[in-house]
Amino acid sequence: MAQAGADWLHLDVMDGCFVPNISFGPDIIAAIRPCVQLTFDVHLMIDRPIRYLERFVKAGADFITMHVEAEPQLDEALSYLQGQNKKAGLSVKPNTPIEAVFPYLDKLAMVLVMTVEPGFGGQQFQPQQLEKVRLLRQEARRRNQELLIQVDGGINATTAAQAAQAGANVFVAGSSVFGAADASKAIATLKEAASGVQPLPAGQ
Ligand code: ZN
Repeated sequence: MAQAGADWLHLDVMDGCFVPNISFGPDIIAAIRPCVQLTFDVHLMIDRPIRYLERFVKAGADFITMHVEAEPQLDEALSYLQGQNKKAGLSVKPNTPIEAVFPYLDKLAMVLVMTVEPGFGGQQFQPQQLEKVRLLRQEARRRNQELLIQVDGGINATTAAQAAQAGANVFVAGSSVFGAADASKAIATLKEAASGVQPLPAGQ
C-alpha cells in the first residue's frame, strides 16, 4: 500500500461483539508496525475500547478511533489518548445521529462517518450518510476547527468525490483498491476524484 501511494494504513479491528465479525488485534498491528512508515489509523469496532487503548498505543497506532456507541466513558478514554499524544477519533454508525459526537469535538482530531454498517467489506455506499458529513463540517467551521472528516465504506472514485463535496477529507478504501488489478492506479484515481472538490454548505 505504501508503494502504491496510500497516505495512511487504516486498520479495522473487530471483536465479534460490537460488530458480527472478527478481524485482528494489537499483536498484528505491532507486528506490521516496523515494516512500514505509513500513519497507522486504527478503527476500533469493539465494545468498551477504553479497556484496550493502552495496548493499541503500545502497538504503534497514530490515530485511534472509537465508536461513540461502544464506550460510556468517552471523556476518560479521550483524555487518556490526549495524555499519550495520540490523535483521537470518534465514529458513528449509520443509524447514530452526528450530533452524538458534538460534545467531544474539542478533543478530537477526526470524526469517522460510517457510510456502511460496520463489520464487513464490500458493501454499498449509503449516500444519505453525506448529510451527516455536511452537518459536521458546518459545525467544525462554526468552531473554527480544522477537523478531519473521514468516510469509510463503499468508497470508490465516484463516492469519494461525493463525500469530498460534502466536506470529507479522509477516504478509506477497501475493495476499490484491494480488488483493483493495479492498486497504484486505483489510489491515484481516488485521490484525483477527491481533490479539487469544494465542499458545499449543508442543505445543498
Ligand atoms: Zn474502518
